[in-house]
Amino acid sequence: MKIENFPEKVQPYLIPKVDGHVVYRCLECEAEYDISRLLYTCPACQSVLLLTDLGFDRLNKIPPDTWHQIFDYRKMLNIPALQGIYRYHEFIGPIIPLDAVIYLGEGHTPMVEANPHLQQLVGARFYFKNEGQNPSASFKDRGMASALSYIKFLVNSGKLSDVLAVCASTGDTSASAALYAAYLQPGVKSAVLLPHKKVTPQQLAQPLGSGALVFEIPGVFDDSMKVVEALSEEYNVALLNSKNAWRIWGQESYSYEIAQDFDYDMDHKVIVVPIGNAGNITAIISGFLKFLKAGIIDRLPKIIGVQSTHANPVYRYYLEPKPEKRAFVPVKVRPSVAQAAMIGNPVSMPRVIQLVETYNKKAGNQAIFFAEVKEQAIMDWQLTANRNGHIACTQGGETLAGLVDARKRGIVSEDDVVVLNATAHALKFAGFQEMYFENRFPPEFEIVPNKALQNAPRLVRPEDLNVVPTPDKPLKGKDLERFVKRTAEAIAKELNLSTRDS
Ligand SMILES: *Cc1c(COP(=O)(O)O)cnc(C)c1O
Ligand SMILES: [Zn+2]
Repeated sequence: MKIENFPEKVQPYLIPKVDGHVVYRCLECEAEYDISRLLYTCPACQSVLLLTDLGFDRLNKIPPDTWHQIFDYRKMLNIPALQGIYRYHEFIGPIIPLDAVIYLGEGHTPMVEANPHLQQLVGARFYFKNEGQNPSASFKDRGMASALSYIKFLVNSGKLSDVLAVCASTGDTSASAALYAAYLQPGVKSAVLLPHKKVTPQQLAQPLGSGALVFEIPGVFDDSMKVVEALSEEYNVALLNSKNAWRIWGQESYSYEIAQDFDYDMDHKVIVVPIGNAGNITAIISGFLKFLKAGIIDRLPKIIGVQSTHANPVYRYYLEPKPEKRAFVPVKVRPSVAQAAMIGNPVSMPRVIQLVETYNKKAGNQAIFFAEVKEQAIMDWQLTANRNGHIACTQGGETLAGLVDARKRGIVSEDDVVVLNATAHALKFAGFQEMYFENRFPPEFEIVPNKALQNAPRLVRPEDLNVVPTPDKPLKGKDLERFVKRTAEAIAKELNLSTRDS
């Protein structure tokens, strides 16, 4: 719709203007740094940073119902820069001019309600929010749209040229980084570091297809991460891991979309998210806190972070109820089907620790919870979800298994409405489904397939047919007729079909 056709009251707000005073802020020593360069850790104390808008209070001058209208009417604008995460420009990038915005179709992923059958099985009302419907098929695109728009902004303003973007990845970060960097050819190139044989073939194909330089590194993700950190400290590269605060900022859009999809009513809402490097849960917490601060929502939803028993450092940290007694201990990860979250030493842990405390305080009671689930439960629930019309990846299965656990523990009640983050598309993790269907899991996964959830193709080849078609020898005439008839009969017999009354 054209601007002049919107109500006059919202017209001046529809196209966001460059505004705000954004700085990097150190979570540990609270030092602030200007954003004219890429910075990942505090030069003074080496802790992680977040982006803060020192001019945030200006956003409080706009009444909540005007904000609701701004976002709701923006949906109807046909301006590409505002069609993705920058619908919430004032909250995730007010200093980015719209001509620097890269939009590849990310964000505004559908929330799909589970059918009555599945809701009954789980004992809760819930939706999957399908992050696999982002352009590189995972939620990582939200953060990359932000990080690469910022890089483009620096390039446009002459502060940066010939960028080499680097990241370490459990698979999806590199797929996304390579895609967005490829869009910025020829000024931006990308190199990705992957733990050797610890990403799926689909995830490996993605950065290769986008033309990135792909390096396979021995060990697990945490080892690749150390190498990429050393690279970004010593050399002139742009780090695209979630250590980069611009990534976190873009991922906050996930919370804003959920708020908008529920018409800003967060009463009895629960968000469930898998935790790997803990960037996503950081962003989700931070997003809801900002919408609360601006009055756009009037309460905070519950948030449940889920980990596999094979990679559970965050869950373990919060097992200790007394905050002053908690101590973070990295864990040695074991093989996990939730491979994208198979991280023993999450980079964003300091962010999580701080934000969880703030969140619970603002909520007025404990509103963030953690769950751990078995590998078996992750696979069983992923397959069950997908047999009911979803496209959940293994991490999506992990959130559903987490919901089942949280329901048992009474964290989720009967009148809650739950949104599960299905962080990537099922197809990226088809290999685990195949291992399940063919009962080929190596013992360390500790997964025994449930027969009722297995599936396999059946070859139809009636024995009394002496000729069948082949690609270079199609059948004709009587042979074709007989082949079609006998094959249809064989299928009908297997399916126990009754004949039509004529
Ligand atoms: C990256 C990733 C995760 C983990 O997210 P963090 O931000 O690292 O906690 C979970 N699922 C998928 C599919 C991912 O790609
Ligand atoms: Zn510091």
